[in-house]
Amino acid sequence: MRRGRFAPTPSGLMHIGNARTALLAWLQMRVAGGQFVLRMEDIDKPRSRPELASAILSDLRWLGLDWEEGPGSGEPYGPYEQSLREELYEQAVERLERGGWLYPCTCSRAELAAIASAPHGLDSEGPAYPGICRQRTREEREARAALKPPSLRFALPDKPVEVADAIAGPRFYPPGAGGDFVVKRADGIFSYQLAVVVDDAAMRITDVLRGDDLLDSTPRQLLLYEALSWTAPKFAHVPLLFGPDGRRLAKRDDTMVIARMRSAGIPPERLVGWLAFWSGLVDRPEPVKPSELIPGFDLAKVPSDPVTVTNHAILKLWDASR
Ligand code: GLU
Ligand code: ZN
Repeated sequence: MRRGRFAPTPSGLMHIGNARTALLAWLQMRVAGGQFVLRMEDIDKPRSRPELASAILSDLRWLGLDWEEGPGSGEPYGPYEQSLREELYEQAVERLERGGWLYPCTCSRAELAAIASAPHGLDSEGPAYPGICRQRTREEREARAALKPPSLRFALPDKPVEVADAIAGPRFYPPGAGGDFVVKRADGIFSYQLAVVVDDAAMRITDVLRGDDLLDSTPRQLLLYEALSWTAPKFAHVPLLFGPDGRRLAKRDDTMVIARMRSAGIPPERLVGWLAFWSGLVDRPEPVKPSELIPGFDLAKVPSDPVTVTNHAILKLWDASR
């Protein structure tokens, strides 16, 4: 049985970019007769807000998407919530620790910032961690950890990683790409990389479809699967939507926020029509329900180049509210 998921972080309202990813992940499972689960990635509690989690759920239902399972009983299903699953993450950390994959890191932000010459990291986390604490002796580590709680880093094995992506194609990452990443922060919060792997494995996810801002996280996640002796899912990273200003869509632009569209009376079918159009699923952005897109859905139609949301499209979308 194929299983997919949508895994939003409740730190902001949904915009049309997230809605498109959710739609595509849902369609991928519906056309395959698979199951679709929803997971709130609220592991970073200080950054997550319950009211945003409910707003996301209600936006997804408004769009016409549904999902199976959840910790509650019966429909409407609740999503899985990372904040309630910390025991599982701790078990995985212990397993990695037993396997010798982790080491404590006591470097401060300031210390890391001072290493200006470090090669650049894989994503917005900044420069790659150059492995300072990996070189320390056991005594040194213990002495430092007594002064300051350490984070735990995954020691990258000395080998390249290949990612076979259904949309982006094959990607090769050289040994050490991105640097040793954190699996548990000094404040006790488990990292996204760790939690997402534990959850996708525990939820028996076979297909991960998500935005290509996470493509460079995939080699790290593959290494975690390997270290934990778990089977990795297949990956498909959809290119993000860009706004008329050439920047990645974000919630800063009110005209892109689903909740704003809803309160302006824009019908969901109209938005779904545009989402399908931007995904290469239809030739014209005519109103359509997600369920009507199931027959004929093919991931191969989704363009592998970034898609621009034009001013014209935004005007058309909002025009429908009048
Ligand atoms: N929670 C992540 C986000 O909202 C997505 C995680 C994933 O799909 O792997 O960006
Ligand atoms: Zn360190």
